[in-house]
Amino acid sequence: MKILVINSGSSSLKYQLFDMEKEQVLAKGVCDRIGIPNSFIRHIYNGNEFRKEVELKDHNDAIREVLNALTDKEHGVIKSMDEITSVGHRVVHGGEKFYRSVIIDDEVLKTIEECIELAPLHNGPNMIGIKACMKLMPNTPMVAVFDTAFHQTMPKKAYMYALPYSLYEKNGIRRYGFHGTSHKYVAERAAALLNRPIEELKIVTCHLGNGSSICAVKNGKSVDTSMGYTPLAGVPMGTRSGDIDPAILISLIERDKYDSTMLNELLNKKSGVLGISGISSDFRDLDEAAEKGDEKAELALEIFAYQVKKYIGAYAAAMGGIDVLVFTAGIGENNPGMRKRIVSGLEFLGIEIDDEKNMQKGEERDISTPHAKVKTFVIPTNEELAIARETMRLVSSN
Ligand code: ADP
Repeated sequence: MKILVINSGSSSLKYQLFDMEKEQVLAKGVCDRIGIPNSFIRHIYNGNEFRKEVELKDHNDAIREVLNALTDKEHGVIKSMDEITSVGHRVVHGGEKFYRSVIIDDEVLKTIEECIELAPLHNGPNMIGIKACMKLMPNTPMVAVFDTAFHQTMPKKAYMYALPYSLYEKNGIRRYGFHGTSHKYVAERAAALLNRPIEELKIVTCHLGNGSSICAVKNGKSVDTSMGYTPLAGVPMGTRSGDIDPAILISLIERDKYDSTMLNELLNKKSGVLGISGISSDFRDLDEAAEKGDEKAELALEIFAYQVKKYIGAYAAAMGGIDVLVFTAGIGENNPGMRKRIVSGLEFLGIEIDDEKNMQKGEERDISTPHAKVKTFVIPTNEELAIARETMRLVSSN
């Protein structure tokens, strides 16, 4: 069975074609600069790369190019698009309606459209991608996999904000959480590595990338997570502020005449470790600068580590303990220095990592000391594979 996974953003569309028998990636790539000049497709197949400058007016053009590339005589990996059994789409926001993945029909499309209000930046482009695919592949079943779905098991005390209740009822203002596909995937992998049922484990998963979130996974279910109504909440990120005192916004509006566009730009694009350091949103640049003695870069790294550490402690408290700690995504997988900063001082919880194992590179691995009560794992996330598996499960059972 071959499954195409689509992750459609506002100006880019990423894809991966899986052969599900061996869970092997046959080809992957990206259509970039959709709707802007100098658009192109980058297609990777059998270890080769093919890049073509091509006008991509909209997402229909992008999907057409993807299908062309996949079936091309030279760069293709399938003979015809009929070989694609199903398409799995990443959808950022499923609101309260979607607590698991679904096969897309008219009703589902309508509901995803209703969720656009909750995540205009993400769900809008996701919808355009789905519709473009449906147009070109009208007979292929499509599945939607939501970033928010895994967190729909959070108890009310974890997802409600202390605002007037009517704002929840009228505007849907509550914590939704994101990166759900990733948190679920790495938590399940951690249980598999331990060879223990996930139903008896208390796991804290740290997805640390350009966007970062922490999740408390108790008995296989998300019971709390650091992102909130939007992916701006929680720990500081590359360019996002994470949690701040909301009165700061009132002060900026009143004193410095900020409007919503300026606040959006400030909190989403100019804050986080970039804002603190004034250097970069990329942790590699910050490591380099800090090593050369840049104090603000060092401060940015310290603040990030401190906030992640606090969430780990908070979630251990929320779950009444912790058995497993997982690091994943760009920073979690590749930055041993940051992992070390985060866990140092957490020995009282039973978290202890082995410096040598922490420095080793590789795939899924246990980096804890032999006697540590808590297992600390580094587990590369694979959201595309998780989406492909969900898609296969749904179309096979239908
Ligand atoms: P996104 O959230 O956009 O998917 P990533 O998960 O790739 O982003 O995270 C980006 C961060 O991960 C950057 O700060 C970067 O420093 C770090 N990172 C990614 N790959 C590596 C690597 N190979 N070595 C060190 N750091 C990396």
